[in-house]
Amino acid sequence: MDKDLFNRRVSVITGDITRLEVDAIVNAANHSLMGGGGVDGAIHRAAGSELKQACQRLRDTDWPDGLPDGEVALTDGFNLPARYVIHTVGPVYAKTKDKSHLLANCYRNALALADKHDCRSIAFPAISTGVYGYPFDEAAHIVIDTLEEALDAHDLQVTLCFFSDRDQQAFEAIAEQRA
Ligand code: ADP
Repeated sequence: MDKDLFNRRVSVITGDITRLEVDAIVNAANHSLMGGGGVDGAIHRAAGSELKQACQRLRDTDWPDGLPDGEVALTDGFNLPARYVIHTVGPVYAKTKDKSHLLANCYRNALALADKHDCRSIAFPAISTGVYGYPFDEAAHIVIDTLEEALDAHDLQVTLCFFSDRDQQAFEAIAEQRA
């Protein structure tokens, strides 16, 4: 099922983000930018080894100490259908203070960077809700708050790409409760 929210500015789907034909997909990366498990691993596998080389260049130039929580960095998409990958680092729930602010920053900063690169469409995975342990419902409220606040400033079509029907349905239930 594909569902439109926010006056059709936001689509909610279940699928593999590496398959999406959008201008930019967001990667729930880690500080190292060198790839990992979950969606990060899937994106690196699908994009090919040039993505890792591009991430290494980002480390060598802009982010020698790694990418901090909530920050964003852009590479090409290489073998992906998406033109760009916007890498961001979500907070680890159990050990991060100010985590809601940092999770919001991931979304806010990714939208701004996509806009800066003339993107018209962007897709997000459910950042921090996998290995980083953010409770799904808590994260969903932050995503909705942040999109409400940030979307007016950006001419972007947003896809929220969940990896299971259960996650998609949980998100839609929260969005509908708030509508
Ligand atoms: P984090 O470390 O930020 O928690 P994870 O990759 O562990 O990141 O999980 C974030 C979310 O991405 C989870 O909901 C997970 O199910 C989902 N996910 C994993 N692989 C994919 C994929 N190929 N496309 C979209 N979402 C994915």
